[in-house]
Amino acid sequence: MIQKFQENGYNIVDIDKEISDICIVNTCTVTNIADRKSRQSLRKVKEKNKNAIIVATGCYAQSYKEELEKMKEIDLVLGNEEKKDIVNHIEEFLRLNKKIICVKDISKQKEFDELGEISYTEKTRAVIKVQDGCNQFCSYCIIPYARGRIRSRNIENVINEIKRIAQNGIKEVVITGIHLASYGKDFEQNIGLIDLLEKINEIDGILRIRLGSLEPQIITEEFMQRLIKLNKICHSFHLSLQSGCDETLKRMNRKYTTSEFAEIANILRKYYKDVILTTDIIVGFPGETEEEFKETYDFLEKIKFYKMHIFPYSPRKGTIAAKMPNQISGDIKSKRSKTLIELSDKNQKDYNEKLLEKNVKVLFEEPKNGYIKGHTSNFILVKCKTNQNFENQIKSVKIIGAEIEDVIGEVNS
Ligand code: SF4
Repeated sequence: MIQKFQENGYNIVDIDKEISDICIVNTCTVTNIADRKSRQSLRKVKEKNKNAIIVATGCYAQSYKEELEKMKEIDLVLGNEEKKDIVNHIEEFLRLNKKIICVKDISKQKEFDELGEISYTEKTRAVIKVQDGCNQFCSYCIIPYARGRIRSRNIENVINEIKRIAQNGIKEVVITGIHLASYGKDFEQNIGLIDLLEKINEIDGILRIRLGSLEPQIITEEFMQRLIKLNKICHSFHLSLQSGCDETLKRMNRKYTTSEFAEIANILRKYYKDVILTTDIIVGFPGETEEEFKETYDFLEKIKFYKMHIFPYSPRKGTIAAKMPNQISGDIKSKRSKTLIELSDKNQKDYNEKLLEKNVKVLFEEPKNGYIKGHTSNFILVKCKTNQNFENQIKSVKIIGAEIEDVIGEVNS
């Protein structure tokens, strides 16, 4: 959207420092809290920019336009597909001077939205979205309604964009999508995520390819035998588990069992000895009994993820789970969250401590206040105290300290 405005002669200003004529809030709706924060942001920008045109777009606008339509602070409510025409919508508003609500049925969208030449402000790592939408309809999730059905980005366009950013010096790409494992399923040709990764691996200048959140079922022996040949793939995988209890998984409409998931973790650990696995877990899903939670806890203890992102279940209007009986109280959700966060912190600290005295390779980012930080290939955050600038370089580092979130290192000379 920034790019669209710039192409049309608008100036982008820092919302914290200047008063602006147009304020865009790109809303999120993944949880109730995200909705609330989106509404708060809209009120806040209006309060500060009293004469500005206020636009709400993104997933909350796409999914619950009636709620935003009622807010007097807002002048335009635009769905996700309207983002590419945002400038035209604003100019129409200026002509008509009347509230515009334009949210199309995203489930009819068949093509990946190409945004054109994007300029990157990051120097080290670029996030490349290659897939949009999801057909899975997990019972708790609003995303299929907010983002529509699966659609993949043309392989040539992805490769050309990555070649261009490699020429600008970026060393690492993160390949993302809403349901990344579905990449290529909407193409007529038989192309999948692994074909795309093989092509990216050939691009000169790119040293690391990181995968965004991945659905567990894509990890098979066949997939791994091709993946292992790609020397730039980072050994960190974020596999969304959501629950470690088969009954809960069934109610969630997740399409794997815990034993299948355990096998997937084994396959990854067999191929990559230093692999790091992270995950997302929902606690307090409707009907989650103490026994079910205990099963989840025991399974998580067994798998030993490096880090777990814990989400208390948040009912999303319009989803099946929101109407399920036996909704869990906030107190129980908080208690269960706390228990799993403690387990996650323990796993992360234990793993980090095992790195003490070892040497790792770190791709460094921008230095700040006498420190420089970067990540290993398996995505451990490493901080080094130094006044030297190693930005965008890969260096060997000796680990001398371990915290929960990161490790402390010394750059080897
Ligand atoms: S697979 Fe992911 S995005 Fe798709 S419905 Fe399930 S949780 Fe939502």
